[in-house]
Amino acid sequence: MRTPLIAGNWKMHKTLAPARALISGLREGIEGLGGLKGVEVLICPPVHLLFPAAKAVAGSPIMLGAQNVHEAKEGAFTGEISVEMLAEAGATHVIIGHSERRQIFGETGPGLAKKVRSAIAGGLKVIYCVGETLEDREAGRMEAVVGGQLEEVLGDDIDPGPLVIAYEPVWAIGTGKTASPEQAQEAHAFIRPRLAAVFGEGAADSMRILYGGSVKPGNAADLLGRPDIDGALVGGACLVVDDFLAIISVAAAARS
Ligand code: PEP
Repeated sequence: MRTPLIAGNWKMHKTLAPARALISGLREGIEGLGGLKGVEVLICPPVHLLFPAAKAVAGSPIMLGAQNVHEAKEGAFTGEISVEMLAEAGATHVIIGHSERRQIFGETGPGLAKKVRSAIAGGLKVIYCVGETLEDREAGRMEAVVGGQLEEVLGDDIDPGPLVIAYEPVWAIGTGKTASPEQAQEAHAFIRPRLAAVFGEGAADSMRILYGGSVKPGNAADLLGRPDIDGALVGGACLVVDDFLAIISVAAAARS
């Protein structure tokens, strides 16, 4: 049985005071739920908030992640941050290959493959994002695109234990358009055998595949009730305490 993971991608939102308020609201809400049972919760704030966020989540089950990382240990890479630096700031996870990184910042497979390997070698858990554009979907290329994004980055030299996959159709991110539970399940069911081909069936069976793309309290139950949807990567709704808590509660209920 895979424990669902609900991960919040804050993107470039929140300065210190509202971040503290959001985290303390989440902590209170989780305590109100009697703690986290059968679900893991991760927040990925902007990098300047990692240190204070680590303090704010201390003693709670909320885990902390970053939204990007550089593959090198150190060096002349202005504006970048290393695995060791993220870990020192309190991150245990990192999102790699988010579609905004691919589309806006031009990240591609070969660079992402290095990032995934460096992050895992440095002890971070990785959420590797894949997903097709609307144009790809409409042209019937979902499997080709997602399969390619998996193939160009994953390999049997990677330890699958710390690896989570997020299926995020680009057309559903921040658009209010969600993939239907059937479309999401179909993509996840396509991804799992690809993981098995690389890592073996046992490993693929225990790997989590998250869905991301306009997940909200109102659609979370339907999505998280599907057999291969093992959690969510949440953008907009993770910035609102009650919405994120509602998604967490749904995830806990979905697999109980
Ligand atoms: C995301 O940023 O990964 C995401 C899924 O955003 P949203 O939930 O806002 O669509």
